[in-house]
Amino acid sequence: NLFSFEGGEGSGKSTLILKVAEALRVKGIEVVLTREPGGCPIGQKVREILLDARNSEIVSRAELLLYAAGRAQHVEEVIVPALERGAVVLCDRYCDSTEAYQGYGRGLDLTLIRELNQIATGGIYPQTTFLLDLPPEIGLGRALSRVETASGKEGRFERESLRFHHRVRFGYWQLAAREPRRMFMIDARLSPEGVFEATMKKILGAMKV
Ligand code: C5P
Repeated sequence: NLFSFEGGEGSGKSTLILKVAEALRVKGIEVVLTREPGGCPIGQKVREILLDARNSEIVSRAELLLYAAGRAQHVEEVIVPALERGAVVLCDRYCDSTEAYQGYGRGLDLTLIRELNQIATGGIYPQTTFLLDLPPEIGLGRALSRVETASGKEGRFERESLRFHHRVRFGYWQLAAREPRRMFMIDARLSPEGVFEATMKKILGAMKV
């Protein structure tokens, strides 16, 4: 059981995933909580390169390949072994982020991105993906207040233009329309409890036992 969580900045993904993991663990289910970029030591190094504000000169294609490299390592090192053990894997961002950000956001070719995702994942895709949808104006406000209070290091993407984040959101909508059975869109303006309940209902219904 692999579930991925997608959405723009400040959509509440990470908080939601923690709550979902906890609720599943209480039921005695083994849960592996992971994220992209990151998720394993090599993936974490890739994350640092990608999110470091000092690397703002990185070109889009290099960025795309780094995400793919981090994903390939993460899938083989973390996701596949967890799935083989029968654990439920909750992944904070996965292939759809690459389509939304590097494809719709940066304008790289979508067919190419899909092929690259196929290579990077070895065909391991989530059965359900939760898309936390939020107007970028609201999400960026939340994310920026978080960055100011935190280390301030992961600031590169929050400083992208609002138009960029609108393109990302539009991209996610396109993906959801293309694969309505896999992508489950949730209005992230709902209360955290409302988002959590909608997610749990879907996960418990979708779980293969
Ligand atoms: O998961 P999290 O929200 O921490 O993502 C880190 C940052 O990486 C985000 O600001 C997001 O905009 C960016 N990102 C990206 N392209 C991806 C995945 C994430 O630009 N494929």
